[in-house]
Amino acid sequence: MKTPYTFYFVVPCYNEEAVLPVTAPQFIAKLEALHAAGRITADSRVLFVDDGSRDTTWEVISALSAEHTWVEGARLTRNRGHQNALLAGLMTAKERAHVTVSIDCDGQDDIHAVDKMLDEYEGGCDVVYGVRADRSSDTAFKRGTARAFYRLQNRLGVESVYDHADYRLMSRRALEGLSQFEEVNLYLRGMVPLVGYRSTSVYYTRTPRVAGESHYPLRKMLALAVNGITSLSVKPLKMITTLGLGVSFVSLIMIVWSLTQHFLGDTVSGWSSLMCVVLFLGGVQLLCVGVLGEYIGKIYAEVKRRPRYLIAETTFEEEKI
Ligand code: UDP
Ligand code: MG
Repeated sequence: MKTPYTFYFVVPCYNEEAVLPVTAPQFIAKLEALHAAGRITADSRVLFVDDGSRDTTWEVISALSAEHTWVEGARLTRNRGHQNALLAGLMTAKERAHVTVSIDCDGQDDIHAVDKMLDEYEGGCDVVYGVRADRSSDTAFKRGTARAFYRLQNRLGVESVYDHADYRLMSRRALEGLSQFEEVNLYLRGMVPLVGYRSTSVYYTRTPRVAGESHYPLRKMLALAVNGITSLSVKPLKMITTLGLGVSFVSLIMIVWSLTQHFLGDTVSGWSSLMCVVLFLGGVQLLCVGVLGEYIGKIYAEVKRRPRYLIAETTFEEEKI
């Protein structure tokens, strides 16, 4: 890879007015250092994507971009969620940069890992995953649930990198590849491995948020987890077929048994066993219908082909490199 190249940080921000004044100078300092080292061009930028914040995040971004040439901003028309905001930023940066790194704006991801990522990019990798070397900054509960989730995901056929969130380097051609994935249900950390290309991981230590609160309460984490599985794997559908087969087999044995009992004239009581069977089958059926419903909901969203994000305004003119 020829140096210098144009490099973009892509940073989704939602209600981060307390965080940006702390972390924006870190992004700028990193760009300046990389530029001084002759690795990146002077038109490299940090692109903040305001995901329809309700506080003054956009005003903060606009002020930063007026003050520093390194800073650019784009504002979505409304809150579309982390994954959509990230995609909006990546697709905007794709037109302007040779290489991008997506990172959260809360200072949790160690910005110095970017140097190692760029080493790998210069060595010929198109995708570099930032992987948490340890999760000591997370609560034991979050750590446990996250571990269980990664394991479940891989077992269900979703290829994803263990302990990697959305801190990753992507080259321009990897982004071109990603742009051809037109799905509406986004789960980027499961989609990027599908793009292919040479990839590797670099390890970093995740620290606590510099200010503000996490936007991922348990409810949203669960929704992301379910979305991650159902938008990338049909294994749950196969599992309910297998479950159905198993239950049918047991039912067959039960039918033979109950007919035998009937002909032996031994069929008086049996209320409890009947209740057990009825309740068990009712539960299994509802569960299976629920899994089917999850997929139908996905199809419903996909066939409508609604735009994944709309950009209301930017601090820059649309131009291509
Ligand atoms: N974020 C966003 N839109 C949302 C929620 C979050 O763009 O609807 C951004 C947020 O500003 C941050 C990143 O996504 O930069 C990750 O969110 P957060 O730090 O709250 O999640 P956590 O690190 O706790 O998983
Ligand atoms: Mg965070």
